[in-house]
Amino acid sequence: MNILVINCGSSSLKYQLLNMNDESQLAGGLVERIGIEGSRLKQETPAFGKKVLEVEMKDHKSALENVLKALINEEYGAIKSYDEIDAVGHRVVHAGEKYSASVIIDEDVIKALEECVELAPLHNPPNLIGIRAIQELLPELQNIAVFDTAFHQTMPETSFIYPLPYELYEKYGVRRYGFHGTSHRYVAQRAAEMLGKDAKDLKLISCHLGNGASVCAIDGGVSVATSMGFTPLEGLVMGTRCGDIDPAIVTFIMDKENLTIDEVNNLLNKQSGVYGISGVSSDFRDIEDAAADGNKRAQLALDAFDLRVRKYIAAYASIMGGVDAILFTAGLGENSADNRKAICTNLGFMGVELDVEANKVRGKEKVISTADSKVKVMVVPTNEELMIARDTLELVK
Ligand code: AMP
Repeated sequence: MNILVINCGSSSLKYQLLNMNDESQLAGGLVERIGIEGSRLKQETPAFGKKVLEVEMKDHKSALENVLKALINEEYGAIKSYDEIDAVGHRVVHAGEKYSASVIIDEDVIKALEECVELAPLHNPPNLIGIRAIQELLPELQNIAVFDTAFHQTMPETSFIYPLPYELYEKYGVRRYGFHGTSHRYVAQRAAEMLGKDAKDLKLISCHLGNGASVCAIDGGVSVATSMGFTPLEGLVMGTRCGDIDPAIVTFIMDKENLTIDEVNNLLNKQSGVYGISGVSSDFRDIEDAAADGNKRAQLALDAFDLRVRKYIAAYASIMGGVDAILFTAGLGENSADNRKAICTNLGFMGVELDVEANKVRGKEKVISTADSKVKVMVVPTNEELMIARDTLELVK
């Protein structure tokens, strides 16, 4: 059975076609600059390799039309006809409190997701456009929605409630939702498999460290706490997002700098994080290079990032009453040995002992703690697309 996985962003679209008989990737691709001049489609297949197409794509529907055409292209495609696609899995960012697992999309689901647009104004609209477009282009196929928020619906109320007037939760749904759920769920499952244990018997702390970053406490296979909140702005220091700050700063800088709501949102989401501190870049590679060249603000950004991850790890171990393994994933978590080492510094008191040699690994599954370390430390590359395809398979079977 072949499953097409679609991840629609505001001006981009990522996709993968997976053969679920052996979970192999038949094709993967990216459409960039949808609705903007210079749009292009990049596709890669194991047989042909990379193909780049410069085509004008004015909206997501035309982007998906081009994706489908590229998939059946005789020269660089992966399949002969659309009949070889059996179902489509869609990444959807926000399902509010409505769904705690993936679902088959029908009109009720679409309505529920439309109601969540208010909670994720940047993310849910393109996700919905992608679903509608596939329904039009491939009307025979079942569509499945896999939500970033769903995995965190197991959080107890003590973890998700904000200390604000309770009516704001009741009236507007102001609470912690958490994101990156598909990634945290995948790495937790893989870690349990790698350790040869049942997820039910494990206390895990998953650190998804990419441009967006979050930490999740997973006790007995379910999320009990996570650092992102009502929106993906809370928690860790990120590429350009500030994460936790004193909320009073927001009104203070609005007043001092005469900022509108949009401007302050832009400042907190796009001009802050390691980019804001360093003034160098939002990409950790650039910041690591600058720090190595003696740039003090770049070093400060890295240190502030590491400190906050470490703070969350210790806090989440205390919430669960212990931790069996700490998992590193996503761009930075999978690739930066220096960063993992810095984060694990001072965690010796909890029984964390990093193996410096084993830590010199990039993008591969590996236990990187010493044999004696009470708490295992592991690199587990994430695979959200595979998780979406597995959920899709399970629901359409
Ligand atoms: P992601 O959002 O998961 O794609 O992660 C992207 C981020 O990972 C980039 O902005 C980089 O800062 C970081 N990254 C990727 N590879 C490396 C590496 N080898 N060393 C340090 N950081 C890396």
